[in-house]
Amino acid sequence: MGERVPATSQADALVMFGITGDLAKKKLFPALYELVDQGRLDVPVVGVARSDWTVDDLRRRARESVPDGDPAVLDRLCALLHFVRGDYNAPDTFVRLKEIIGDAKMPVSFLAIPPSLFDEAVEGLANAGLTDTGRVVVEKPFGRDLESARELNTILHRHLREEQIFRIDHFLGKEPVQNLMVFRFANAMLEPIWNRHHISNVRITMAESFGIEGRGRFYDGVGAIRDVVQNHLLQMVALLAMEPPASADAGAMRDEKTKVFKAIQPVPPENLVRGQYTGYLDEADVAANSDTETFAALRLEIDSWRWAGVPWCIRAGKAMAETVTEAVVEFKEPPRLLFSEDGHTPLPNTLRFRMKPDDTITLTMQAKRPGTEMVSRAVDFSVDYERALGGDGPPAYERLLHDALIGDPRLFARQDGVEDAWRIIEPTLNDPERVEHYAQGTWGPAAADRVLPGEACWNWSILGEC
Ligand code: NDP
Repeated sequence: MGERVPATSQADALVMFGITGDLAKKKLFPALYELVDQGRLDVPVVGVARSDWTVDDLRRRARESVPDGDPAVLDRLCALLHFVRGDYNAPDTFVRLKEIIGDAKMPVSFLAIPPSLFDEAVEGLANAGLTDTGRVVVEKPFGRDLESARELNTILHRHLREEQIFRIDHFLGKEPVQNLMVFRFANAMLEPIWNRHHISNVRITMAESFGIEGRGRFYDGVGAIRDVVQNHLLQMVALLAMEPPASADAGAMRDEKTKVFKAIQPVPPENLVRGQYTGYLDEADVAANSDTETFAALRLEIDSWRWAGVPWCIRAGKAMAETVTEAVVEFKEPPRLLFSEDGHTPLPNTLRFRMKPDDTITLTMQAKRPGTEMVSRAVDFSVDYERALGGDGPPAYERLLHDALIGDPRLFARQDGVEDAWRIIEPTLNDPERVEHYAQGTWGPAAADRVLPGEACWNWSILGEC
């Protein structure tokens, strides 16, 4: 995706709220380090926090966050760092912030803080005149249902125009996710078959072989639907289903994604299966009678000329048999069974976009099985992107932080898309049926097959069999 961003959008200061937190340590400092190393970050970076830190503490944290970093690059990063300690509701905090960033015309403020603090932080920035220009980057979650998402947007819009708000869904910054759109719209041969006449169903899986890893305090109030379906997996649906955008600019691309969401009806409760792995209730900070789902499978339809009647099946789960993220587009079966064995239907063609554990695209076709019989068998045509194209691209936060600094909003979520995604899953959040239990290391509750159409099977793409 070529960059189409005016030079005047370039940030001249980066303000980071939540610089003392976990996200900063795990993702943001490593991303800042890479940008400094590549010569793409040379503006003041001002950490703002209520913790009793000094700029030396901040520099120490930067070095700890990149333990294998080149000392010379770390020195350059540390030289950019400043620190403002203070409460978000104390005007003085923002006065001192303003003194440091001086007459910056395009400050970018990154809110790596809980959403409950956005109000205070944005109010403080606005009162200090720091939202007249520049941008504010906010981290997911963007609400926990449609109503709270709207409230959050109201808070942000009190002082910011929509084009100033950059909502990070780091999943969109991943190379294989971006490739979905490039692969679709850079290969004209796909267009004639990319519709309800040729595609029978689409199945999207995000499975993790591990559980909640001690994050009970966060996860038990969230669950799989809010954690990954509402954002990451619906974004995948949009990228696979959208019409070609009129141009490569952010407005056109996000308009097309929003059109997909607008054509999706809220998921009815009968199209949802929720599961919980056995042992979840014994995890730390999980309520004793928790009904939080660690697995969800659901089916939706896109009511458009291109997609009407094609089921889109999504599942996401923890403590599953494997870690795999993929989307499988299954094509219709041939009209006549000329080359089947014992009357068995040959497996349909599929195009599989796998993002984890490897970045591959696999087209499964039928070819003659060697031997005397005239029968077909499935054969894979597969490309491993890292090997074929050399390298796996920048990590998501590095890419997105840079995009926020130069003012490229294409990989960030827009208000209408976020709210529509909540609208689509809203019925699955309201008093759903209780979770079904499943053993760890499996593919979730057997009932998950209920959301699939006809003969479709979740796993043969992953395991080569059902
Ligand atoms: P932390 O809990 O580590 O908090 C970040 C900072 O926010 C803290 O350093 C603290 O800064 C301030 N803070 C935290 N809790 C409170 C509170 N109750 N009241 C006031 N201030 C508080 O969060 P993360 O770094 O993990 O996440 C930051 C944001 O990013 C959150 O919105 C989270 O949902 C999101 N996120 C995090 C991911 C991760 O991997 N960690 C992944 C995806 C999204 P101070 O010194 O100012 O008190």
